Amino acid sequence: MNKVLEKAKITHNLSKNEIMELLSGNDEDLYKVANSIKNENKGNKVYLRGLIEFTNICKRNCFYCGLRAENKKVHRYELNEDNILKSVEFAVSEGIKTIVLQGGENNHYTAEVLSKIIKKIKSYDVAITLSIGERDYSDYKAVKEAGADRYLLRIETTDKNLYNALHPKMSFENRIKCLKDLKSLGYETGTGSLIGLPGQSLKSIAEDILFFKELNADMVGIGPFIPHPDTPLANADFCGNFDTSLKVMAITRLLLPDINIPATTAMETLKPNGRIIALNSGANVVMPNITELEFKKNYMIYPNKSGSFTQNSETLKSIINGLKSENFEVSFSKGFRNSD
Ligand code: SAH
Ligand code: SF4
Repeated sequence: MNKVLEKAKITHNLSKNEIMELLSGNDEDLYKVANSIKNENKGNKVYLRGLIEFTNICKRNCFYCGLRAENKKVHRYELNEDNILKSVEFAVSEGIKTIVLQGGENNHYTAEVLSKIIKKIKSYDVAITLSIGERDYSDYKAVKEAGADRYLLRIETTDKNLYNALHPKMSFENRIKCLKDLKSLGYETGTGSLIGLPGQSLKSIAEDILFFKELNADMVGIGPFIPHPDTPLANADFCGNFDTSLKVMAITRLLLPDINIPATTAMETLKPNGRIIALNSGANVVMPNITELEFKKNYMIYPNKSGSFTQNSETLKSIINGLKSENFEVSFSKGFRNSD
């Protein structure tokens, strides 16, 4: 076997050059080793997280995202507590034990409003993950105290110049500060990056992976960048980066053996069997979308997002059946990094 893979198997440490070697190569053993490390540390289980896209109102203008404030074509919505609880009840009735609340960054959901919703959701005995962008320390603290367990905030890219170019009026430094705040507050903290951004180099992707390791991220979500027609990156050269995303995911598993890694929706969107391929190459989490159909069709971060046009029960059933037919054990526990 490739020397770099041998080393990773034993030490779970790689240098930037070694990571770049794996990224630029095409060694199928990478996926096999990532899968065996995943099986050793997480078993054959796939953890389910019910994803609620509770608002598409966003004040940011990330260049790649269809929900950016300047995209006037989006029909904007925000779910109230009752709408959200309806999806939570559906998820709970199907045995799901983690709810992910994801949305655009906006000031409508204050820490107080969110805390009230979080407390209601917690009464269903589920873990809660938030993914609502950058907030100040006091907000993160308040919602943690209300019961939020986890937080997802991708670094998107560790190339500081590229980060600043793609995120008007935002700063790389503040992104890092947010991630450190979340860690220090005791959240299970997730990060990750977009793969295939215009101007992104293999070196900076290797640095992304080293960043996940350095932060000791509890979750890492890797997704291929998929151009959205109503964004400044509409005409970006798009060269199908499923394979690069898969490699990044697998290498992340080599370096962080016990973390949770989702098979992201963007992977499934790019390739029909993308989710299963990812789950056989280091991923161990799936996030079925349980947002009601009338809303999720307007949550088009990128076009043709997988699962956006089917009813919740259909999506969930087909995902669970698909996993079982591939011999995965579907886990209905909360699935923290260090405990079930
Ligand atoms: N507003 C929050 C959560 C919603 S966006 C936030 O930004 O953190 C969630 C993720 O969608 C982002 O982190 C980004 O990585 C991803 N995303 C946005 N536009 C995308 C695109 N065009 N292709 C693939 N993923 C995209
Ligand atoms: Fe808003 Fe998140 Fe999209 Fe950026 S990536 S525009 S913060 S929804």
